[in-house]
Amino acid sequence: MSVNPVPTIGTARRRVSILGSTGSIGCNTLDLIGRNRDSYDVVALTAQTNVKALADQAKEFDAELAVIGDETRLGDLQDALASTGIECAAGRSALEDAGARPADWVMAAIVGTAGLSPTLQAVRQGAHVALANKECLVSAGNIFLAEVAASGATLLPADSEHNAIFQVLDPAKLESVDKIILTASGGPFLGTSIEDMRKATPAQAVAHPQWSMGAKISVDSATLMNKGLELIEAHYLFPVGREKLDVVIHPQSIIHSMVAYNDGSVLAQLGSPDMRTPISYTLAWPERMETPADRLNLAEIGQLTFENPDLERFPALALAAEALRLDNGSATVMNAANEIAVAAFLSERIGFLDISALAADILEDFAAREGRASFTTLDDVLDLDDLGRQKAQEWVQKRAS
Ligand code: NDP
Repeated sequence: MSVNPVPTIGTARRRVSILGSTGSIGCNTLDLIGRNRDSYDVVALTAQTNVKALADQAKEFDAELAVIGDETRLGDLQDALASTGIECAAGRSALEDAGARPADWVMAAIVGTAGLSPTLQAVRQGAHVALANKECLVSAGNIFLAEVAASGATLLPADSEHNAIFQVLDPAKLESVDKIILTASGGPFLGTSIEDMRKATPAQAVAHPQWSMGAKISVDSATLMNKGLELIEAHYLFPVGREKLDVVIHPQSIIHSMVAYNDGSVLAQLGSPDMRTPISYTLAWPERMETPADRLNLAEIGQLTFENPDLERFPALALAAEALRLDNGSATVMNAANEIAVAAFLSERIGFLDISALAADILEDFAAREGRASFTTLDDVLDLDDLGRQKAQEWVQKRAS
């Protein structure tokens, strides 16, 4: 990963933008900025539909620009920000403009592949990009990384597992790495029978035992697709070879991930499950900043436990590993299908187990018919993303009829 100089906290103010500011990651990021107002100027904030939260944030942080993705809500946003001097805009190209607006640091926290184009704009301006959106790397992989290399942008992993690895991995000694071990809480259905998982409701699936997150990633955590997406993300961020990537279930979510070296040492990053810790590491990087996250009391926690993932009850993890192995756009198609499946589950059109079944069918179909398709440009990514969505919609309709 390349490194550009950014103003050091305490000596200059950083210009920061947040793509997806009204979500879980966006709000945690603004919470940290609010505690360190002397160090940051807010440039652009974006949301999709939540005009009220966006307008409140823009006023509170005196943003230069507020963008709402849903164009029909531009009038509401303009009304809410009338006579504040804050610029308002709406629509997909306005989201991209928000990513392109000059900033030192940009948080990529739009959920799903919708985040790809705005994040690419932040990359193209050579900013420090805090990457919470894992779908950028899952769906565009090397194409995304080529844009990072071409622009000289710096990627700062914000996902807690990848941030943990970023903290303990020595990039100059990748050949000494035996394994990168991603930890997974196991989600709300860790000990649930397959029969009960079949009947699981959206409310049960989003009730994560350790982390407070947006609905999509919470469902992904419940199927373990999230860990599969993280495996793919880790493959692109930390090039040690996919056979050296491993997953272990760790229900307490205290160890956020580990790197095992060839001398037998295992380095881990620990902390309470609070996204403000990894976000702060990217926001203050290369320094650290104080956060209000609960401090660990290991004696009180008492036990840290580990187990292997059950791939029969949670096939999505193996599916994502297979998509990574197949390459050639397989992860793009699977990721798109998963997004449609999660949305269909949340709107109660399919059941919980259908999510992984749908993603498996679409991936299998793609691998059998189109697996060797050319996959070298952003247009290829967008085409395969469309294909995965369309096939998944057909699957949902067939299931519903
Ligand atoms: P949320 O659902 O809480 O927030 C998503 C944000 O993106 C909101 O600002 C939302 O606006 C906006 N948004 C939604 N759809 C679109 C769209 N089509 N176009 C533009 N903007 C859109 O998600 P999270 O904050 O939980 O997650 C964000 C990303 O970070 C995901 O990729 C997730 O995998 C990743 N991540 C999240 C973690 C967490 O703890 N939450 C941990 C690690 C990674 P609006 O409010 O108007 O809907």
